[in-house]
Amino acid sequence: MSLEILAPAGGPEAVKAAVRAGADAVYLGYSSFSARASATNFDEQTLTEAVHYCHQRGVKVHLALNTIVRDEELDGALEAARLACDLSIDAVIVQDMGLCRLLKQAAPGLSLHASTQLSVHTLAGVQWMAKAGFDRVVLARELSREEIASIARKSPIEVEVFVHGALCASVSGQCYMSAFLGGRSGNRGRCAQPCRLPFQASDRCRNALSLKDYSIIDHLRELHAMGVASAKIEGRMKRPEYVAAAVSACRASLDEGKVPPDLMEHLKGVFSRSGFTDGYYTGRRGRNMVGIRQKEDVTAAQRALPVLQKLVAAERPAVPLHFRLTVKEGHPSCLTAWDEEQYQATAEGPQPQLAQSRALDRQSCEKQLKKTGGTPFFVREMDIRLGEGLNLPLSSLNALRRQALERLLQLRGERNPIPFVWPGRAGKPAPSEPKKGSPALYVRFGSLDQIPEGFEAQMVFLPLTASKGELTALSARFPGAGVEVPRAMFGREEAVRRRLQEAWRCGCCHALVHTWDGVRLACEEGFTLHGGFGLATANREALQEIKEAGFASAALWLELSLQQASRLTGILPVGYYAYGRLPLMLMRNCPAADNCKKCDGRQSLTDRKGTVFPVRCAGGAGEVLNSVPLCLADRTDGLSRLDLMHLHFTEETREEVEHVLRLFREGIPPSFSFTRGLSQKGVL
Ligand SMILES: [Zn+2]
Repeated sequence: MSLEILAPAGGPEAVKAAVRAGADAVYLGYSSFSARASATNFDEQTLTEAVHYCHQRGVKVHLALNTIVRDEELDGALEAARLACDLSIDAVIVQDMGLCRLLKQAAPGLSLHASTQLSVHTLAGVQWMAKAGFDRVVLARELSREEIASIARKSPIEVEVFVHGALCASVSGQCYMSAFLGGRSGNRGRCAQPCRLPFQASDRCRNALSLKDYSIIDHLRELHAMGVASAKIEGRMKRPEYVAAAVSACRASLDEGKVPPDLMEHLKGVFSRSGFTDGYYTGRRGRNMVGIRQKEDVTAAQRALPVLQKLVAAERPAVPLHFRLTVKEGHPSCLTAWDEEQYQATAEGPQPQLAQSRALDRQSCEKQLKKTGGTPFFVREMDIRLGEGLNLPLSSLNALRRQALERLLQLRGERNPIPFVWPGRAGKPAPSEPKKGSPALYVRFGSLDQIPEGFEAQMVFLPLTASKGELTALSARFPGAGVEVPRAMFGREEAVRRRLQEAWRCGCCHALVHTWDGVRLACEEGFTLHGGFGLATANREALQEIKEAGFASAALWLELSLQQASRLTGILPVGYYAYGRLPLMLMRNCPAADNCKKCDGRQSLTDRKGTVFPVRCAGGAGEVLNSVPLCLADRTDGLSRLDLMHLHFTEETREEVEHVLRLFREGIPPSFSFTRGLSQKGVL
């Protein structure tokens, strides 16, 4: 198998550009269930046409249904998947584990790809996705060459790697900035891109969250040798000329071993942010990765467009074709055309006449049949069975060729549907009653020192980085003692595993997990699992899935309103984040300095309104925290409809912790600045 070149398509023109430039597969969105809700996307008719167009030309189509889906939206997502099955789509890209669960039941024959929004970045995460029923995983963009190689070597399923296009500052699937700052969810395809606005760091970097576009197109042969299955180009919001340039560059890199410099210039011209970066792949992370779109970038685009339009002006003859022409006295002339995927079409024409002067010869037949220009075919082999001394007008030969190819093209677009049976559901959502007494308290502290004397809670977590002494003291004091597994563990999977084993020996046998990578590790080490916010659990199917995976509890998605959350009880104990200075972003590239050796782990960013966002770096990753803590101390009625309540302390002093706990006991709002987060309105 060669490396698949996978191109983005925001609309029918981009599909055409991708196919003509030589993409092996395209991915596109349908209606609103795509992580790019504002791309043109496709409706039923344009999707049908696009899939036929691609299949006729031997190109695969992946449908992106990769958003977090609320209960009431699952039917719509299933309808989209049913249409995709009718069209015999080649794969569906999924983020929501509830939707994944339903699709496995509904269409076992449908190929499922785990979206990069699932933040998978270790072999453990890949293994979890394989077990969950995915055929392919799209890895997090932040991985280095060595990390990709090591995952791809052992992965039980196909691995897809991002090779070109815009970089989010945050690890995909772990970004809440657009949701918390403006109510537009990046996890539902509605990112407002606040990260492209100025965020100033103490090293004077003014756009600390805006990364250049990524490009590792030069390394495609290397990726292929590693066993990577697919090279993904980002850009469903971008114009067809961009798609043409990016696909052509990938094609050249893979087929010829290098990209012509002028093509690379055109690609840069059509879209870049002060050039490209390969910082994650090469491990050269730092301020060199930061860039914004400048005036020069825009003028370069104007020059590049006409050249790129030429690249995809004509059909690409990519489908090999076989012909058998029979011209015999007393029989209609006959041309059979077949491809290498068992499609076959035959056309019949007039009977040949006895030649008066010059008879039809083999060379003339070959010449006419080879004229496949304007079609996606090229002739690989011809079998010409020509009687002696016969004549057939060349126009008849041309007509035979045209008819046979038209019919063959049509057949290639018609495939058997993938069987789809409407799945059963994990019960109807129902508003839950307020419970007697307060919900169980699940509290995460940043350190042991923060925990007040006499404090009691059902579950208390410390970060996995806590010392042996802290963890031992924690387990001695609380029956429900646990560790919070870091969301990011780039290249540190085995180190995290060893820490987990140590924590277990210290008596902390509960784990608060935010990514599937962490779930797999904690599960393997025998921990009792508690889902954290990073798993984005937002519907009953997802809850059913994680219940069956052995979870003891789950925090619901941060972007649900309290009311939406309260309709998700009754499957396993569920909770809502009620307090905490929550992370808006998770980054591998230090947001505060050139690298974390220079950032001292405790910096901040300031936006253009002067709001300060703390940055905390540890363990090879940085978090941009919200400027104010979430606090729902006065929302006791709403919170009491849930089984548990999550409090997330980071750097508060013990006195501050006591103060917050008192607010919750008394049900009053704080006097310090705070936010109610998305508890009232939820997100778009
Ligand atoms: Zn840092």
